[in-house]
Formats: sequence, structure tokens, C-alpha cells
Amino acid sequence: MPTRRTVLKLAAAVPFVLARAPLMRAAGPRVVVIGAGAFGGWTALWLARRGAQVTIVDAWGPGNMRASSGGETRVIRGSYGDRAIYTRMAARALQLWAEHEREWGRQFYVPTGALWMFGQDDTFATASVKAMAAEGLPSERPAVEDARRRWPQIDFGGISSVMFEPKAGYLLARQSCAHVVDRARAAGAAYRVAAARPFEPTRSMSRVALEDGGSVTADAFVFACGPWLGRLFPDVIGARVRPTRQATFYFGTPAGDTRFHEGTLPVWVDFGERLIYGIPGNAQRGFKVADDTPGPDFDPTSGERETTDGEVADARAFLRRRFPSLAGAPLLGGEVCQYENSPDSHFIVDRHPAASNVWIVGGGSGHGFKMGPALGELVSGLVLSDGTPDPQLRLSRFGK
Ligand SMILES: Cc1cc2nc3c(=O)[nH]c(=O)nc-3n(C[C@H](O)[C@H](O)[C@H](O)COP(=O)(O)OP(=O)(O)OC[C@H]3O[C@@H](n4cnc5c(N)ncnc54)[C@H](O)[C@@H]3O)c2cc1C
Repeated sequence: MPTRRTVLKLAAAVPFVLARAPLMRAAGPRVVVIGAGAFGGWTALWLARRGAQVTIVDAWGPGNMRASSGGETRVIRGSYGDRAIYTRMAARALQLWAEHEREWGRQFYVPTGALWMFGQDDTFATASVKAMAAEGLPSERPAVEDARRRWPQIDFGGISSVMFEPKAGYLLARQSCAHVVDRARAAGAAYRVAAARPFEPTRSMSRVALEDGGSVTADAFVFACGPWLGRLFPDVIGARVRPTRQATFYFGTPAGDTRFHEGTLPVWVDFGERLIYGIPGNAQRGFKVADDTPGPDFDPTSGERETTDGEVADARAFLRRRFPSLAGAPLLGGEVCQYENSPDSHFIVDRHPAASNVWIVGGGSGHGFKMGPALGELVSGLVLSDGTPDPQLRLSRFGK
């Protein structure tokens, strides 16, 4: 009889194309993926394609309004300063988003390009350009004067340099999460709405208990529960995944005015004392403006998601300065989501220290969404091959 380790390794060896056939399911290990956001959904899809018998469990559904993957859009970019691991991952993710779009005949990635605007310090740009070149991702450093001519709808006051990333753009967030789970099901995965209970695993785990009194048995478990990871694993994760409140606003542009649409204006990032970014067009939801600075602690289950007058005023003050012709634009809507920050904003991909078949995947820290396809590929490979993650992603980096 093969050991669990042999079964997992055999499943990992199944070639990608063959593994797409649901018929392979019967031979593969049983893996439960808890959490169907960007991280869990893509992991489940890759696992199912690679021959595992996958069950996806989510408390509220893929890309739900409480999840960090909820909402309409997310930025995809390769610029990460000197954090080369993420430029590499983003390059792979860009390739995989494009491949999946072709396979599915659906568009989730809108390539608008991204304009980065810097005040005094642009060391982030210098390091990003180098790292992107190493991964074959193009970048440009136009003079501010050229940028001013190209995008007259932006006030470049206080900006001393810019960077343009042609392959960057935005992704449709909640819609792609739902689609990925649908595709995982088409590849043989089962899906159910249920909530996993917090627990303390010991050695190898065989079942996860659910809040409804039921349970799911498996050979391996992937917990991709975003901002809820600390609640599920109070000892191992606890405050190491800190949910913070993040407000996003959508302003209305003038009727028939294409200056603030994708195609005319790229995704933009104002890299000053605070990092403020936005998405033009934004799937017809309005001109998106958000502050990337981590906000106060937030409870992802019971937190009220209303924006405050102060937050709206801050967003307006920014618009007045950087996009003066939108100074009086009507507010079409606001959303409160939460980041799930790790202490160093690196992702967390590791086994539970007390149970080798329990994987913890999260800590997206405000930049995880774009990586879904690449992270799912990585995690599914680790789970099926009993592999060892990159030390930068492991729990041991936090010490005891
Ligand atoms: C406002 C905002 C803007 C962002 N902008 C960007 C961006 O521009 N680019 C980018 O790449 N990233 C961005 N991010 C970050 C990115 O969205 C997240 O890092 C990523 O979506 C996290 O995905 P996840 O799957 O780890 O978590 P989630 O999407 O939160 O998924 C976790 C899932 O687990 C489920 N769950 C939780 N507990 C249980 C349980 N006990 N049992 C069963 N299911 C459970 C939840 O229902 C949820 O569906 C942004 C995030 C926010 C909030």
C-alpha cells in the first residue's frame, strides 16, 4: 500500500495536460481547500487539474463581500522594488491570467498599463525596473514633462519622476473568483458552503470539523482563509495576520468624457508620503480612488462596512490636487474591505508546525489578488509533492 507521501508525489508527477481530465480524480489524494478567495480558489483549481480529489469549503462563497477578494477590481503590476520574489510571481501570474482567458474565452485582465508618480524618492522605481527587466517585463521612465503632455488630466505638481509599466492593468476580482471555483468544479472538485471550526491539529490530521456539526475527511488540508486565519489558528497565526480597514471610493466622471476611462488613462499610483492609487473605468463602477496605508484593525465577520465623512473628505482632497477636473465629481459609492497583513507583508505559505498535512496560505497584505494563478500553481505543487516553500514565505521567519 502506498504511503500518503508516495500518493502525493505520484499525483504531483501527473503531467499538466493529462491532469486536466476529471477522470484522473479517482487516483489522486483527497485535499480539502478551506476558503475560496483568490488564494484558495486558484489552489483548488490547480489541485483538481493535477489529479487530486478536491473539496472546496467556504463560509460565504468565492469573492463574497466580506472576503479580501471581494469587490469589483484589483491592480496587477510587476513593480515590487527590490522584492524580486513578487516580480517573478507577478510575471508568471500575468502569463497565467492571459492563458486562462484564452482557454475560457472570458476577460478578467484589462491591460491599461500603470503610471507610477514619485515625489522625491524613486528608489522603488529604480529597483523595480531592474527586477522587471530580469523577468522580461517592460517598463519605461518618461520625463515628467512628457507624462504631463500625454496625460493632461493629471496635475503633476510635486512629482519629480514617473515610471510607466505597459503590462500592468486591472483584474475583475469577485467575478474571477466565482469563475475559478466554477472551473475547479468542472475539473472535478466538489464545493460546499460551510464554515470550518477553529482547532489545534496534532501530527497528521484526517478531518476538519464544521460549524454545522459535520466534518470533511481528507489526506491533506489547505487553509486559505484570508483575514480569518488568525481566528482559525490563534497560536500559530494569531496577530500575524492582522485585518485592517481599507476604504475605497468611486467617483462619477462627466457624461461622455473619456479622459478618465481605461484606454485613455492607465491605472495610476501616487507614491508620495502615502500611497494612493486608482483604476480608471473600473468596470463601469466609477473612477476608483483608494489609500493603500493600512487602516485601523477590523473584524472581517462583524465589522460595519460604511465609509466615514472624513474618509470621503480625504479622497476628495486628493482628487482636487491630482485630478483637478474631478474636484466636484459626485461620489457614486464607497466600500470597506480589509487587508490581511503579515508583519513583513510577505505572504504565508507553510505547513502547520504540528501537522505536516495541514497547509496555511495567506497574508496577502494588500497585494495578493493578482498572484492567484501563480500562487495556486505553487501551493498545489507543494501540497502534492510534499515540498518545502521558499524561506521568505515560511512561518519560521517570525521566530517563536
Ligand atoms: C481594498 C483592497 C484593495 C486591494 N488591492 C489589491 C490590488 O490592487 N492588487 C492585489 O494584487 N491585491 C490587492 N488586494 C489584496 C488582495 O485582494 C488579497 O490579498 C487577496 O484577495 C486575499 O485572498 P485570500 O484568498 O487570501 O483571502 P479571501 O479573499 O478573504 O478569502 C478567504 C475565504 O475564506 C473564507 N473563510 C474564512 N473563514 C472560513 C472558515 N472558517 N470556513 C470556511 N471558509 C472560511 C471566506 O469566506 C473567504 O471567501 C486588495 C485588498 C483590499 C481589501
